[in-house]
Amino acid sequence: MQSAPGAQVAGPSVEDGHGQNANGVGAGPVTAHDVEPCANETADRIATGIVTVVPVLMLGVVVWQAWAELLYWHDFLVFALMYVTTGLGITVGFHRHFTHRAFATSKPVRATLAVMGTMAIEGPITAWVADHRKHHAFSDQHGDPHSPHVDHGHGLRGALRGLAHAHVGWLFLHTQRANKRRYAPDLVDDDTIAFIDRTTLWWIGLGLVLPFGLGYALGGTIQTALTGLLWGGAMRILLLHHVTYSINSLCHFFGRRRFDTGDQSRNLAWLAPLTFGEAWHNNHHAFPTSAAHGLRWYERALDPSAIVIGALRRLGLVWDVVTISGERQAAKLATAAR
Ligand SMILES: [Zn+2]
Ligand SMILES: [Zn+2]
Repeated sequence: MQSAPGAQVAGPSVEDGHGQNANGVGAGPVTAHDVEPCANETADRIATGIVTVVPVLMLGVVVWQAWAELLYWHDFLVFALMYVTTGLGITVGFHRHFTHRAFATSKPVRATLAVMGTMAIEGPITAWVADHRKHHAFSDQHGDPHSPHVDHGHGLRGALRGLAHAHVGWLFLHTQRANKRRYAPDLVDDDTIAFIDRTTLWWIGLGLVLPFGLGYALGGTIQTALTGLLWGGAMRILLLHHVTYSINSLCHFFGRRRFDTGDQSRNLAWLAPLTFGEAWHNNHHAFPTSAAHGLRWYERALDPSAIVIGALRRLGLVWDVVTISGERQAAKLATAAR
């Protein structure tokens, strides 16, 4: 389906709140009404710290495991299965469907995608979507929760500070987190999604029980169950987190800008396969509702999320998939060139 002109908004509240497109350029100044206060900042920071640091510490266990020759072929299989499941939950689910409505689908598929994404431990779904819509509304301006370019100073020091903030530092701050009621009212009012949001810890637990069970099923011992947990849990979380964080940091700093989006979003080809196509980030800021972030044929080949959405469409599981015609892309390029 061709997207309607009015469909270029990141979410309803962004359109309602600012009357702007999803690039956020020219969005009014951020107000207190845009920001979600944190109920218990210390507890939030401790939880975020544990989730961030423990997988890094587990790298030490992996080194020991390799040295002790306890590394099994099925560890990599469990890792790959969990990485793909939770990664697509974020890219196809949290990002392209829930945040940008790049396609429509049934309640069971929505619930499945929401659970898959929640297992990635990137926060409850509603907060994730609200923060990301706010990122589009204020992209690289004051109000963007994770811009590497706002208020970090100049020169190399400012660049490194900005990258650190966009990559992981912002997760510990709550000054620009999006007001969920304002930025994601569609999810707040959806009973199924609200339930999955409330029970986030269950799904995080499921994301750890699954690799433990897979390790046991494939190897038959508690030891293989534990190495399954190590790879399908800790190592999968470590890689997927830093790959996701790289969209916020590297893809607003390094790479090519085909479209003049009024922000610093960039296409970073080498990161595309690992991010399931999300690294075509300048394309994404140019056409936020597009189901495909890779727009040229070779970009599309490195956009696994778009390939999955295409397969789901052929199976009849998703519909109203938003595509951007060559003419619209050319028109956007011509506007920038004038
Ligand atoms: Zn961005
Ligand atoms: Zn987006």
